[in-house]
Amino acid sequence: MITVVGSINMDLVIQTDHFPKQGETTLGNLYTTVPGGKGANQAVAAARLGTAVQMIGAVGQDAFGTELLTGLEAEGVQVQNVKQSEGASGIANILLSQGDNRIIVVPGANHSVTVEEINAFAEKLADSDLVIMQLEMPIPVIQRTLEICHKNGVPAILNPAPASGFTADFLPFCTYLTPNETEAEELFGGNWEKALLDYPNRLVVTLGEKGAQFYDGEKHVIVEGFPTTAVDTTGAGDTFNGALAAALAEGQDFEAAVRFANAAASLSVEKFGAQGGMPDRKAVNERLK
Ligand code: ATP
Repeated sequence: MITVVGSINMDLVIQTDHFPKQGETTLGNLYTTVPGGKGANQAVAAARLGTAVQMIGAVGQDAFGTELLTGLEAEGVQVQNVKQSEGASGIANILLSQGDNRIIVVPGANHSVTVEEINAFAEKLADSDLVIMQLEMPIPVIQRTLEICHKNGVPAILNPAPASGFTADFLPFCTYLTPNETEAEELFGGNWEKALLDYPNRLVVTLGEKGAQFYDGEKHVIVEGFPTTAVDTTGAGDTFNGALAAALAEGQDFEAAVRFANAAASLSVEKFGAQGGMPDRKAVNERLK
């Protein structure tokens, strides 16, 4: 069982010809609501691959909250430990125009999760094969989750996104760290390749279509991406993380797990939406051939 401690959002997506200027009201072309949040996306990515997944987190007591829970359940994600807290669910307000975007995330219920609640879930965390988290939850919640995993010898993946929430205090407790290139620069500076040397088979930096890079204790390894025609790269990172979690929880070695994650993520960019393109196991196995 993989446990995801992470965010659950509704993405409110508006497509428009131009962004309104300050004080201006404009008409948009299309409005859609799409389930998102890095935590939920990674949970769905792992569940689609046939992995048992439970989530710890929160949605609001609004209509989005109920819809988000139903959606996760339909994907096979266990949501017994997701609370419906007072107030609004987390949302991302996404404006799209001519290939550009403007996004405001309001954490809402995601930030209602407390350290006390994480302590109450300590046994569930300790019983997990692997725990994965991102940085859209309160920082003390992440810190406590990492500590519980560390104490109980449970492998923990931290996907340090958004990187602004990262603190070096996390480092001794993470088993695996999975920044993209921009996040790696924020965490370790321009010379992040040097940082790879300090975390062999633990720190993997995703490189978009180029794949991902880590250090295996003897040499740098670039696990090449799978060339494809990208339609929408939203959620590529989340698919990579969910698939990496699934593969590592199954006991695949690090390089094989990264390759598996590259294959899953390359399939995800072929379709629109973060969760829309997340592949099942059969499709990933085909791509790995
Ligand atoms: P996003 O924010 O778009 O979800 P990210 O910036 O977190 O993604 P990336 O490093 O861009 O992360 O991509 C994650 C993984 O997705 C890569 O390691 C790679 O395996 C896969 N990937 C991304 N873009 C492509 C592409 N154009 N073709 C094939 N694979 C891709």
